Amino acid sequence: MPRPLNLSARAQALQPSLTLAIAARAKALKADGRDICSLSAGEPDFDTPAFIRQAAAEALEKGLTRYGPASGEPALREAIAQKLTHENGVPTSTEQVLVTNGGKQALYNLFQVLLQEGDELLLPAPYWLSYPEIAQLAGASVRLIPSSASEGFRLDPARLEAAITPASKLLVLNSPGNPTGMVLSRAELEAIAEVLRRHPQVAVVCDEIYEFLLAPGHQHHSFAAVAPDLADRIFCVNGFAKGWAMTGWRIGWLAGNTAVVKAAIALQSQTTSNVCTFAQYGALAAVSGSRDCVREMAGQFNHRRELLSSGLAAIDGVTLLPPEGAFYAFPDISAFGLDSMQFCERLLEEQGLAVVPGGAFGDDRCIRLSCAAADATIQDGLSRLKRFLQSL
Ligand code: GLU
Repeated sequence: MPRPLNLSARAQALQPSLTLAIAARAKALKADGRDICSLSAGEPDFDTPAFIRQAAAEALEKGLTRYGPASGEPALREAIAQKLTHENGVPTSTEQVLVTNGGKQALYNLFQVLLQEGDELLLPAPYWLSYPEIAQLAGASVRLIPSSASEGFRLDPARLEAAITPASKLLVLNSPGNPTGMVLSRAELEAIAEVLRRHPQVAVVCDEIYEFLLAPGHQHHSFAAVAPDLADRIFCVNGFAKGWAMTGWRIGWLAGNTAVVKAAIALQSQTTSNVCTFAQYGALAAVSGSRDCVREMAGQFNHRRELLSSGLAAIDGVTLLPPEGAFYAFPDISAFGLDSMQFCERLLEEQGLAVVPGGAFGDDRCIRLSCAAADATIQDGLSRLKRFLQSL
């Protein structure tokens, strides 16, 4: 009788990504012939701009198919450092940048080299569902800093300060935010910096993956530009997926404190080595090129966000805080008496509409809908949601 293979406690505790699982389920149901409308994954439906694809194809043709430095191609690291310095106002040198397999690996590497058993991650809720899992993989515990829709999903500096303990090691700031779409203003960032000046043991990771996706009237500020005196403990995580429509390329970066980034490079050298070499040349063309393509796609997302938001706000019983950026809406559906998981399961089963339960993001009163889809798909999704609500 073979002995059963026991999973590690770490693996047993790990939840698979629900955003990816729901998007995959919607695709599989569609492939089976079911009539499905998916507003689940946050994935631009645009093609990667041609000049980026061409740069990667040329690099492939030129034979850039071998191992590169684990830290990333030097030209790409340099271009990202320049972007941070000039576009974000965060002076950054090349050795402070690590090219990663998407924003997720940047977070994973950072959490692995900064966090350990006994440490706490400070996580404003609602939050993107991968942060707690990645922290727990590093052995850390998660201390949530809740905010509700009635409080505008804002991070209250007094509540942040009250949540900090001697074990607090790292705070997550995700602006524009997934799933709420909230954007931290300069004044809010200044107030957060005031709190952190009193707690020198707390570092900050700013997930800026939605930096270009801003509703009219909102601006993105990099935290280290607002609080340069804290720059040594502020990390920036970003990537090409959302702004440049490059989700499948899996290219992101981690930037910040040189010693910590050096440790993250060592970790990457022992795990995944370098990001696909020729793909990095596509990313180099993207980051060094004009932002016209980014602005064009962001403009379309603004239109779609508005379409989705106004459609949701017009439904009786649904309350929505208008998203200020990213490409999600996170309405409160608690008036209908179902928890978010039951709501989403029945919505998929009965109306073929795939959306993500808010419980996975730390707020069971809400559901998340993505507007990274064509107008007709968004309108179809709204009709299905209305039919479902009428049937309840
Ligand atoms: N970040 C996107 C989302 O929340 C893509 C899927 C994922 O990585 O979670 O839908």
